[in-house]
Amino acid sequence: MDPINRYQQIRRVLIYTFILNWGVATAKLIYGWLIRSASMKADGFHSFSDGSSNLIGLLGIWVASRPIDPNHPYGHKKFETLTSAAISALLFLVCFNVIREGISRLIHPVIPEANLNAFLVMIVTLAINTGVMVYENKKGKELKSDILISDSLHTRADILTSSSVIITLFAIKLGYPMVDPIASLVIAFFIGYAAVQILRESARVLSDGAAIPIREIERVVLAIKGVKECHQIRSRGPADDIHIDLHILVAREMDVHRAHHLSYAIENKIKRDFPGVTDVVVHIEPVEEEEGKHKRRN
Ligand SMILES: [Zn+2]
Ligand SMILES: [Zn+2]
Ligand SMILES: [Zn+2]
Repeated sequence: MDPINRYQQIRRVLIYTFILNWGVATAKLIYGWLIRSASMKADGFHSFSDGSSNLIGLLGIWVASRPIDPNHPYGHKKFETLTSAAISALLFLVCFNVIREGISRLIHPVIPEANLNAFLVMIVTLAINTGVMVYENKKGKELKSDILISDSLHTRADILTSSSVIITLFAIKLGYPMVDPIASLVIAFFIGYAAVQILRESARVLSDGAAIPIREIERVVLAIKGVKECHQIRSRGPADDIHIDLHILVAREMDVHRAHHLSYAIENKIKRDFPGVTDVVVHIEPVEEEEGKHKRRN
């Protein structure tokens, strides 16, 4: 798929998700406020932050889709990762606010009123969230997009939290209003968990953590005819833009022409076997050469 079309598709998915999230958030915030339910409002804030992160995602993609230029010879992909990190910061903030309100409600109890409309709002928004999650996850895998996958991951958490709000509304109806702030604290935990997960992957990408286990790359490279040995394997980058470099040992008498072909063969095989790989650099050494001489390509 050509990159421009891919970004257009990711953008479309994000715009749909953004609209649905803010619609869902507005309904939950208004009703949560009307019936004085901490958990429903917490869920509404969660959806609101989801919508905001879609907006940040759109911004990130707008920058990430810019073509390679002399100042950014590796492209602008890491801007997408950077916005993922911003999304997690936003989630930490929401998490903190929900915990603050939950604790204050435990100290100063407020009795919410669980009416039929509140139930209806929760059930309809839950159905919308489920649809969004399935759609985003499918598209994220199809388009290999960090942003869509991480976003769908926490839309999955939304489904759990929205379900817990429905259970809470039942509990309120049955005469247990204290379940409400407790549920809001549970929701805060899920928001925090999603934030940690997104931050962890962003940190791996931004710190050049290994994208593919060395053993897996080694197995693929050693299977290619002409490769005697393989070392100094490095991989880095987001799941859809992995860069690999490695050293291989070949017969001393192999001529430059054949060696060049071999490096192409390695590049193509790696790109075929690991679909997210966009760049492979092969450093070629003759087999008799003393090991350790070329510890680093420069
Ligand atoms: Zn969410
Ligand atoms: Zn070449
Ligand atoms: Zn070497």
